Amino acid sequence: MVRGARRVVALTGAGISAESGVPTFRDAGGLWRRYRVEELATPEALQRDPRTVWEWYDHRRSFLASCEPNPAHHALARFFLGRGVAGLITQNVDGLHTRAALEAAGDAPADAALPVELHGVIARDRCNSCGARYPGEPLGDPLPRCADCGGLRRPDVILFGESLDGTLLARAQAMAAAADLCLVIGTGAEVYPAAAIPWTTRHAGGDIIEVNTQATSLTSVAAVAVQGKAGEVLPELLG
Ligand code: NAD
Ligand code: ZN
Repeated sequence: MVRGARRVVALTGAGISAESGVPTFRDAGGLWRRYRVEELATPEALQRDPRTVWEWYDHRRSFLASCEPNPAHHALARFFLGRGVAGLITQNVDGLHTRAALEAAGDAPADAALPVELHGVIARDRCNSCGARYPGEPLGDPLPRCADCGGLRRPDVILFGESLDGTLLARAQAMAAAADLCLVIGTGAEVYPAAAIPWTTRHAGGDIIEVNTQATSLTSVAAVAVQGKAGEVLPELLG
């Protein structure tokens, strides 16, 4: 199926980074200090107590910077580079797909292997008022401010309850609609609107191949569901 597909799109989630040592939300237990992550990573918490929210992200940011892309990230990067057509969509904010793409491309343009990062990039800051973007820096005192408008800077990720970037989402949906095969890797595909992406390919007449260590709500819809670790399955599937 992979060899015969005209156009392939891939949607990845936290599970693809598990073998890089990044805990999925469920594995992490969803707690940091005494806070529930679902309550901490919200616009209300950012408004009420920006320093605590920043400390959690600063902690997570430096942890993620120490993680490396695994064979699953590398296999996808090589696959899309070889095709020359972009098709990678991720819910992860860890930047590991981008790092794998840049490594695989060497001096060549990495565009085809760069992901659409639907939920943002934890290594980057964004102004909470005007949207200007900045490279992230280690947290200091006072909290970082926007050089353009003086607004509070925040990690450039989508918090619980916030909408996704409409342009990115439209691009991902168009990629999924144009594909005849959607690979769904390491995601429970339960968090909308990202979870709608495989369905877009399906409704356009395409097929789904799922790679996950467990069964999900997509397993019965997939043409093929491979139960296994992404880092072991993908090099074989795409190699
Ligand atoms: P999830 O935590 O809900 O689900 C992870 C999925 O990966 C599960 O279905 C699990 O069975 C599967 N899995 C675990 N290990 C695997 C492996 N080695 N190989 C293949 N599959 C494996 O994650 P989600 O569906 O991505 O949604 C949770 C949300 O949390 C997303 O919005 C995401 O942005 C965010 N998140 C991101 C990161 C990251 O950036 N790495 C980490 C945790 C959570
Ligand atoms: Zn600003």
